[in-house]
Amino acid sequence: MKTNQAVTETFTFEDMKKISRSKLGNSVPIELYRAIRLIGMYQGLPMKGRATTMTLGRKIGESLPISSAEELLDLFRELKIGDPEVVSNDGNKIHIAVKDCFCEGLPEINGNLVCDLEGAIMEGALSKLYKKRVTVREIKCNVNGDDCCEYEIRL
Ligand SMILES: [Zn+2]
Repeated sequence: MKTNQAVTETFTFEDMKKISRSKLGNSVPIELYRAIRLIGMYQGLPMKGRATTMTLGRKIGESLPISSAEELLDLFRELKIGDPEVVSNDGNKIHIAVKDCFCEGLPEINGNLVCDLEGAIMEGALSKLYKKRVTVREIKCNVNGDDCCEYEIRL
């Protein structure tokens, strides 16, 4: 153990920001994120990873240090997951379109919506924020040939 590090049992999201590698800095290329998400999870796990993405997306979402929905959207931009925008809100159903999603530019494969993890992250974060069950469903995806990635959120 390094002498100047606190002993920790589990990681928090704040811990993720503690980066002290000297040469390679604090970012990794998007192709690595894509490879983990699409080759490893979407193609590598049973049922296109659906059960796993829900579990781990919710868990990550719950760990995010946010105190409003606006902060969640800001964090999506900061983490470069994508650039989300509320496109409709009728009080119990909200639609969020994500521009510049990590999947933008990939070859289209019709019938495939691949950004379910990112929706599950929103679901975990919003369920914790509102202290009730929130469901987030991916309804559009660039990979499916849609004009953006879009989520339907039910409160
Ligand atoms: Zn996407």
